[in-house]
Amino acid sequence: MSQRKIRVAFVWPPGFLSAYSLPLPFAILKSQLDLDITEVRLFDCVLNHWNENSKELYLQLSNFQPDIVALSTWSPMFPESLAIFKKVKEQNPKCLTIIGGPHSSTYWKRTIECEPIDMILRGEAEFAFSRLIKNLYNDHKVENGVPGLVFKRNGEVISHPINYVDDLDEIAPPDFSFINLKEYNQLGYRWNSPPVNNAPLWITRGCPYRCQYCASPDLNGKVIRKHSIDYMIDHILDLYYNHDIRWFNIIDDNFTYDVKFAKEFCRRIIALNLPKLGFGTPNGIRMSRGDLELWSLMKQAGWKHLIVAPESGSQHTLDLMKKDLKLGIVEKKVSEIRKAGLKVHAFFIVGYPGETVADIKETFKLIIRCKFNFIFMANFHPLPGTPVYDQLVEEGKIPDGLLPQNFSDGLRSYTPENLKGFNFSLFFFKTHFMMLLTNPRNALYHIRVVIRQYPMRLILGKLSKTIKAAFNKEEVSSRYFDQAMNSQSQNIP
Ligand code: SF4
Repeated sequence: MSQRKIRVAFVWPPGFLSAYSLPLPFAILKSQLDLDITEVRLFDCVLNHWNENSKELYLQLSNFQPDIVALSTWSPMFPESLAIFKKVKEQNPKCLTIIGGPHSSTYWKRTIECEPIDMILRGEAEFAFSRLIKNLYNDHKVENGVPGLVFKRNGEVISHPINYVDDLDEIAPPDFSFINLKEYNQLGYRWNSPPVNNAPLWITRGCPYRCQYCASPDLNGKVIRKHSIDYMIDHILDLYYNHDIRWFNIIDDNFTYDVKFAKEFCRRIIALNLPKLGFGTPNGIRMSRGDLELWSLMKQAGWKHLIVAPESGSQHTLDLMKKDLKLGIVEKKVSEIRKAGLKVHAFFIVGYPGETVADIKETFKLIIRCKFNFIFMANFHPLPGTPVYDQLVEEGKIPDGLLPQNFSDGLRSYTPENLKGFNFSLFFFKTHFMMLLTNPRNALYHIRVVIRQYPMRLILGKLSKTIKAAFNKEEVSSRYFDQAMNSQSQNIP
């Protein structure tokens, strides 16, 4: 048995936008740890304005002397995350380095090749991580009984199967003080919600769909699992009264999948009668999973708008995506949601492999026909580990190891050959402009969404990149896994 507590350093790497993301995985993990045997500290590069070369980050890490450095990352931030691990290993080769999050969960076979990474925790790590620490504390083999663990032994890669927790109520609620939620709110953390104190809620996990561009079913499984409504109500009341939270963003991929459950949740929220309470589902909902009664209950519970995800106005593109959506229902569902008194926002992806200019024009037509109150139009990015990524690698259209530089700065990491002459940025401008022109009564709302839901610095940055791209036509920006793997870490003075 260890003489002292196991010291865990959670590192939130540079590159995350504080307006969209916060270190929620660490707030959840921290709550599951046995603090009698663990000392845990967060090293948040975003809040501290550290990059992978910041002297202060390594000074603070070295003062803490961690036994484990654990990092959660997405694909765009992977090179910086790797650079941090390299430096950590230079400081202390015995320190255990563990990575989690979507990139390493879905692209684990290549990620584990990276020298400074000792282990990957795939999928959901709540109980896996605390089990690993108990093993370490009790001098047992660190990997014993740890689901989702990938590690190397004598040159061989060993991977344990993922185990999804059936009863989500066994998981303690996230410790938001640990990740400085208040500071994130002050910095402008909103994720498609108004500028009031807000917190993410994770009520259901899993997705049974098969959209080829998405990693979610791999990350959280294909079976929908739910917290009980009683558990969520206690959590909401705690955040409302003790943390002044007035807006809750349900970050589930499929909150309304079980329509009966979603209705019951709304009824319980309405019965609480809490003043100034608002809700959002910023990752969107499946239009087919809901009816007028649900939309009306959501409105009464505090939703102001719903985000739907048609992704394309062309059935051809939707079929390529395996979106399992019949275009015919979109207009009917949009007017049903409006009937409940909610505004309707929509997600779209353009530049999908196999899509044609004619398909993109169909998307434009659908947007104008539906008179969406706001749209989010994103360039297609192949995400490592997703089915479409593997398909593009197999067809020789992208190298294995292509990493998107950024999901939301308006630049693309891949353009299909047949769309190379297409000016995507100009198309984005034109679509928003035509939305304003063809639906002038919504113009004020459209502009208000932009101003209220995003910090000004983000709007200006994004706008200037998109304008530049509109004039350059071909603005592609990507990085490569091999470059990240082979780059030398910089000496920190
Ligand atoms: S995009 Fe949404 S519906 Fe499709 S697989 Fe991902 S989480 Fe599921």
